[in-house]
Amino acid sequence: MKKILLVSLIAIANLHAQQIDPKIKAAAEAVEQKVIEWRRDIHQNPELSNREFNTAKKIAKHLKGLGLEVQENVAKTGIVAVLKGKKAGKTVALRADIDALPVTERADVPFKSTVKTEFLNEKVGVSHACGHDTHTAILMGVAEVLSKHKEKIRGTVKFIFQPAEEGPPPGEEGGAKLMIKEGALKNPDVDAIFGLHINSGTPIGKIRYKPGGTMAAVERFVINVKGKQTHGSAPWSGVDPVLISAKIIDGLQTIISRESQLTKEAAVITVGKITSGVRFNIIPESAEMIGTVRTLDPGMKALILRRMREMVPAIAKAYGGTATIEIQNNTAITYNDPALVAKMLPTLQGIAGKDNVLLAKATTGGEDFSYFQEEVPGFYFFLGGKSPDTKVAPAHHTPDFYIDERGLLLGVKTMSQLAIDYLNAK
Ligand SMILES: [Zn+2]
Ligand SMILES: [Zn+2]
Repeated sequence: MKKILLVSLIAIANLHAQQIDPKIKAAAEAVEQKVIEWRRDIHQNPELSNREFNTAKKIAKHLKGLGLEVQENVAKTGIVAVLKGKKAGKTVALRADIDALPVTERADVPFKSTVKTEFLNEKVGVSHACGHDTHTAILMGVAEVLSKHKEKIRGTVKFIFQPAEEGPPPGEEGGAKLMIKEGALKNPDVDAIFGLHINSGTPIGKIRYKPGGTMAAVERFVINVKGKQTHGSAPWSGVDPVLISAKIIDGLQTIISRESQLTKEAAVITVGKITSGVRFNIIPESAEMIGTVRTLDPGMKALILRRMREMVPAIAKAYGGTATIEIQNNTAITYNDPALVAKMLPTLQGIAGKDNVLLAKATTGGEDFSYFQEEVPGFYFFLGGKSPDTKVAPAHHTPDFYIDERGLLLGVKTMSQLAIDYLNAK
């Protein structure tokens, strides 16, 4: 009796932690060294957003070699490749971003980037200071693993190599939004999408995830305040836009502290720049403020933006001036579909081990994978890239940013198995 109970308990446990297919595991391990080599090559030859010409060539060459249907120049330098399985079924997309940053690398690695380029009329060093080189190499590895095991694929896998995640240069379109516009999620139509981000502060072997809002929607705002210019000694004869700006900043913070339900999710309003005035004894005519809003919950986002639009002109009016606010969206909420997360969590746990898959808090950084998730259910998680011997890991976007390559194999395994399990799930 006890034995039967134990056996059935084990069966239930196995059901909940889906094991990796031994053939997929072996294929992932077989490709690991190549993934590391691709990563080093891409790392040493980084390219800025919308300029990923050679990176894209390398990716396309590899995918064509695997016999995939490859579409190039999607959203300028992006690539969409299709792998049809042996059986018919749904379509799952796997996405990697491929761009680097204007950061001069300082990390002491043999494949260090020494690339320099022009960015906004300045000579800058270029490096993969966000780790998108690892995402690219991992997805190239996944393409190799899955193309060797078409018999396990019930449906279609679409590989999306996306440029300009860090944002296109001013005046240009790019990134996930442009890929969607150019049909990356169509023909065949994508049913669900998966993506990962390497994390310099999470130990190798670990995965962090959160259902619902996991990264913030990013808005950029510009406020223009108008007063009436006068002599600095006689403020009563004018309207002071500097004082009005101070009142507006104060007011905006009360939207967060008094009106936002902070027990639900975090939210941030930051005024990052104020420009006004010319000298000490002139009350100027106008002031400009620019800043950012970060939200993780769609309802909270709607409330905060609505209240900002109401409050800014109202405060200015109360002090005798006028003010306008323009709010521009930079990324949507990276929103992990709760049902999809629940369905796929056993796959992650089965591969990484239950104790290594950690429920995490949201972060207030932004990620343009969010635009794909506005179109189809998606799951975006974080992969450990921190060495066991690193004490304090340098942050992303900094010159000392470093990733331990031993963390990449888990990325290949999870993305491969997620695609297979999603397509085979009822
Ligand atoms: Zn980044
Ligand atoms: Zn990134």
